[in-house]
Amino acid sequence: PDVSARIAAGEVIESPASIVKELIENSLDAGATTIKIALNQGGKSKIVVEDDGVGILFNDLPLAVERFATSKISDVDDLGHIGTFGFRGEALGSIAAVSRLEIRSMAREEAEGGLLICTGGKVELHRRINTFPGTRVQVEDLFFNFPARRKFLKSSQGETRRVSSVVRDYAVAFPDKVFTLMSEDRVIFSTEGNTEERTFLDILDKIWPSHCPIQQGKVDFVPVKITAFWQPLREGTRVNLTVFVNGRRVQDSVVRAAISSFGQAASGLWFVIVEVPPEDLDVNIHPAKAEVRFKNSGEIYKAASKLVEDMLMGSKQ
Ligand code: ADP
Ligand code: MG
Repeated sequence: PDVSARIAAGEVIESPASIVKELIENSLDAGATTIKIALNQGGKSKIVVEDDGVGILFNDLPLAVERFATSKISDVDDLGHIGTFGFRGEALGSIAAVSRLEIRSMAREEAEGGLLICTGGKVELHRRINTFPGTRVQVEDLFFNFPARRKFLKSSQGETRRVSSVVRDYAVAFPDKVFTLMSEDRVIFSTEGNTEERTFLDILDKIWPSHCPIQQGKVDFVPVKITAFWQPLREGTRVNLTVFVNGRRVQDSVVRAAISSFGQAASGLWFVIVEVPPEDLDVNIHPAKAEVRFKNSGEIYKAASKLVEDMLMGSKQ
């Protein structure tokens, strides 16, 4: 790719955490039930994300790392209703441009798997191999070709923390999936998925401090559905908010404004899951920040305010 493509890629991919987020979303898109993430040096030297999803057809492997080569959008009209998590096929191409990328995959409908190796966005190898059904993406030497960006990465510990927070959030939002996060070959976080641990609350209980009970609330303002979890923290004076909209973690200012309007009373940890019809969303405002814009933000604000108000009342009883 040319220099401008490489620079644009660097803007989408800021850190190991943003790579892991994109790769988890791809695994979820592929219908995976088990997602394994492994880091070395906080992902700075190596990130591996392995899934048991539908896999990538051998002939499609080189297309997967071409930017804007998404398989899910066949014409521009489709952009109005992106039901899945994809950003117009930017992620793998962007990751490829700033690392040494290796994808091993076996599609369900094929008898053999494929291997694709890219360095700095250039395909070096594409051949058949024996591998397991599903996909394994390995990202090495992040920003090896962008020394200036490499300097902005935090310590291994710092990057591991940021990745953990992404994995934990996705584990909460997808309680039926099996997540495993390893760092330097040690499991540092995992969920069971298919056993008794099946609810948002079960997983939240594992990751939030336990000295205060978690409040739970729900509103159903057709067609908008919001589920919220709140742990008031006595010493906390801030709102710490995680928002998922239609299955992807996003930066959202509408729910934040609704919570903040209650001031100090609503401080603490919040996890909010919003579901809206896909056509009511504009997900492509800023790929790196994963901002969304609701077409009916007034409705969302009203629904969220009502929910928060009910939860605050409930917590006083
Ligand atoms: P997008 O997710 O927006 O389509 P990506 O660059 O993230 O773009 O991925 C490009 C394509 O590669 C996807 O559309 C999909 O076809 C394929 N792909 C990527 N990751 C996986 C995976 N884990 N399992 C199956 N297919 C995948
Ligand atoms: Mg994607």
